[in-house]
Formats: sequence, structure tokens, C-alpha cells
Amino acid sequence: MTAATSQTPTILACRECDNLMHYPDLQEGEQARCRQCHHILLYRKRDPVNRSIAVSIAGLILSVPAIFLPIMSMKMLSISSTVSLSSAVYALWKNEIYFVALVTCFFCILAPVGKLIIALYLGIAVKLKRVTSRRYIPLIKFYQRIDSWEMLEVFMIGILVSIFKLRDDAELFFDLGLVSYILFMITIVGLKLSFDKELLWNKVPVHG
Ligand SMILES: [Zn+2]
Repeated sequence: MTAATSQTPTILACRECDNLMHYPDLQEGEQARCRQCHHILLYRKRDPVNRSIAVSIAGLILSVPAIFLPIMSMKMLSISSTVSLSSAVYALWKNEIYFVALVTCFFCILAPVGKLIIALYLGIAVKLKRVTSRRYIPLIKFYQRIDSWEMLEVFMIGILVSIFKLRDDAELFFDLGLVSYILFMITIVGLKLSFDKELLWNKVPVHG
């Protein structure tokens, strides 16, 4: 790929003060600041491709126990039950709370897993130097959109609220699913820190 076919813009505007400057050619780990207000305009992440691939694979592996293994068990008046992310969605659906079931399923399962799959696919495509056509643009745009959709922490807050409310009335036990779920959340944060959208946009050609 040559600079002529790259989508790299030539002018960059500061979001804070609208100061215009030439688009900087940054190396990994470097950042560019506005000359006028010193706001950080761009930051090139370190080893983004390999890190994104590694984090995505780890996240996809962890997603299976995080979604299907019991997160916690509770025992109340000799009745015991276990709850996992998938069983919670199923229970909501079964109790005809369809909207909450769909929202939980989308934001806590589909969005994070979809994000990991797209990041892995794009990471491998960059590694194989295949991100050279415009067909990758919709996928990059979709990743950007889905990036703010996953809300694993909301389900975690729900678990914490349940623990707080049930702590006096029921015996609570934490299962392996909780460890998997926390590690799954960490991989999603890791992906946020390692995935470099800017790098992808710079690789997509304007024509072709
Ligand atoms: Zn500025």
C-alpha cells in the first residue's frame, strides 16, 4: 500500500480549540498534542495488532464459561438455585419479561462476543496484509458502533445488588462462572485498550 492510496487525512483539527495542523506520522507508543491547547489529538497504541488478536482469542475462550457456567448459587428455606448469564436471560424470557431479556442478551452476550469476533477477524486481516479494500469499511464502522454497546458491568452490578439484598435471607455461594465472568470483563477492557481503530482507517484505501 502506498501513501497515495491510503485514507490517511492530511489535516487534523483539534477537538478542543479547532486548531488545524498537519496529520502527524506517529510511531507505536507516540502521541500528538495540539500546539495551542496541548490536548492529546492522537495516540498510537503499542503493538495493537498482536495484542488485539491475543485479547480477542482469550476473550472468546472465556466467554463460554462466563455465559454458561453458574455465577452464584443461593439456598433459601431448603430451596437452592444457581444462576448463570444464559439462565438469567432464559428466566427473564420464560417469565415474559421479553424486553429486558432481549436487552440483557444483546448488551451482555451478543455485543461483547460480536466485538471480540470482529476484532479478531480484523486483527488477522491486518496481520495478513489483507485490509487493502473498501469492503472492510462497514466492518470497521460496525466495530466502532458496537464498541459502546457492550455493558457487561451492568450485569455485574445486578449480581452485586442481588448479593446485598439476599445476604441476610439466603446462603450465597460463588461459582467458577463468576471468575470466568470477571476475566471476560477484563479481556473486553483489554481489547478497548489495545484495539487501534486509527491504524485500520489508515490502511483502508480511498479507492478500490
Ligand atoms: Zn487545541
